[in-house]
Amino acid sequence: MSYYNYAERVLSQNGYKLTIPRMIVLGLLESSDVSQNAYDMARKITSSGKTVDTVSIYRTLALLKELGLIHEMSEGKFIACQKFDCKDSSHCHHQFVCKSCRKIEEIHVDDRFFVKKIAKIFPKLLIDSHSFKFEGFCEKCK
Ligand SMILES: [Zn+2]
Ligand SMILES: [Zn+2]
Ligand SMILES: [Zn+2]
Repeated sequence: MSYYNYAERVLSQNGYKLTIPRMIVLGLLESSDVSQNAYDMARKITSSGKTVDTVSIYRTLALLKELGLIHEMSEGKFIACQKFDCKDSSHCHHQFVCKSCRKIEEIHVDDRFFVKKIAKIFPKLLIDSHSFKFEGFCEKCK
């Protein structure tokens, strides 16, 4: 199943209609392997001759984030989840960013033992989430 079709299904399962702004934003997310913010998206939409107001883009991004369909990188920039069909919530999804071409690849590893280990080292803290950012060079750039 494609990302677009999967996202459409998740939206409808949660009672959200696939409106035109949502369709356009999902299309932009699906076709991009670099992170984008609402402003980047608005610019692309305008240059393709369509119009969607920036507020709708912001709202759509907030909704997709809430539904776990996108990951937030830095400065309000988002990337589509590449392992969107993974149903196992016991581990987290991490992102690898190429320092040369900015391409993002999802690091999909089972990290639940790592979190348990850290929790043991810091017993006074209740750690319930974590994030990693991996950087380096992608297959093409290395
Ligand atoms: Zn993901
Ligand atoms: Zn997974
Ligand atoms: Zn690269």
